[in-house]
Amino acid sequence: MTKDPKTRRSMTKQELEEIKKSLQKRKDELWLAIEEDLREDAGKEYHDLIEAIRDDSDKALAELEESTVLSYIKLKLKEVESIEQALARIKEGKYGRCLDCRRWIRPARLQVLLHAVRCRSCQETVEKIKRV
Ligand SMILES: [Zn+2]
Repeated sequence: MTKDPKTRRSMTKQELEEIKKSLQKRKDELWLAIEEDLREDAGKEYHDLIEAIRDDSDKALAELEESTVLSYIKLKLKEVESIEQALARIKEGKYGRCLDCRRWIRPARLQVLLHAVRCRSCQETVEKIKRV
């Protein structure tokens, strides 16, 4: 059996196991990074934060919402979410199938974009629509 990485096909069991492992590893890394962000953030801004909250709690909390660290954390949480979706799709046996056209996504694409849910052409269409 020849395995052309460009061909659309389902992933083998072994490939899925490896992907599962990489996804879980990435998820662990993300959680560690989120923890670190929080610790650093609280350390640096702790005193200012208390002052600000005493002064005007609503405003202070709104400002915290907009802090850079929080947006980093939000980005990471978004990735965690898509990893969890990918893991769920592996469990359901849907991993690797395009959400839109239902064809198999090329394994080569999945290897670089573990949590891709669409084949390349469908993804490009979605991005074009978003831009408009
Ligand atoms: Zn597609």
